[in-house]
Amino acid sequence: MNVKEKNKLIRKVNSLLLKKFGKPYRNRQLPDPVDLLIATILSQNTNDGNSYEAYKNLKKEYPDWKMLLKVPVQKIERLIKIAGLGKQKSRAIKNFIDSVYKEKSSIDLKFVEGMDNLSAIKKLTEYKGVGVKTASCVLLFAFDKDVCPVDTHVHRTVNRIGIVKASTPDKTFFLLNENFPKGIAHSFHTNLIRLGREICKPKNPACGICPLQKICNYIDKNPENNSKTKSRSFMLLDNV
Ligand code: SF4
Repeated sequence: MNVKEKNKLIRKVNSLLLKKFGKPYRNRQLPDPVDLLIATILSQNTNDGNSYEAYKNLKKEYPDWKMLLKVPVQKIERLIKIAGLGKQKSRAIKNFIDSVYKEKSSIDLKFVEGMDNLSAIKKLTEYKGVGVKTASCVLLFAFDKDVCPVDTHVHRTVNRIGIVKASTPDKTFFLLNENFPKGIAHSFHTNLIRLGREICKPKNPACGICPLQKICNYIDKNPENNSKTKSRSFMLLDNV
């Protein structure tokens, strides 16, 4: 499939998901990119509720991220415990804060604004502990760029539908985001996560109630399954 055909399919999927789920909630104001980056690190491998609690704990204790420069990593680890993977996440946060301050003499990511998307991803992933998913979330949620981050749900669903064919979320990300269509990344990303949580589940997808059934290329489609899984619609990155 060439880029033009792929983008046509992305637009079609987006419009079918909008019909099914509506326009997803979004912060009225774009959040601060550093806040967003830290929240995204906290969100890895846990649910949005726990990562939100961890984020609030950290922000309450250190309303100015500059304060983290003097804080031992163990203290951060304690404050974010509820989000799990405390050692790994506290190190990633501390390393990011120390590195960006050393480089820019401030804790600020405004320099990303004028960069093209691929250069921005490359730059952000140079900070140890910041992966492609975290970097792309910063671009979408804090800078409103035309970038669709790929988590496990987006990876599974876009591969089943047949928009891309890739073995890992990062490979899916780079294929999906070649010249991504303008203005729809937030709704496409957010509604695909909802589709993945409620309908296109890892095992036994509920294809019988899926709005994409007619256009999906998954060979193991399961049209007899009509059972939707209830999920919380709260999305951390739209509430930072
Ligand atoms: S038709 Fe089935 S496999 Fe395809 S996207 Fe929908 S739930 Fe997933």
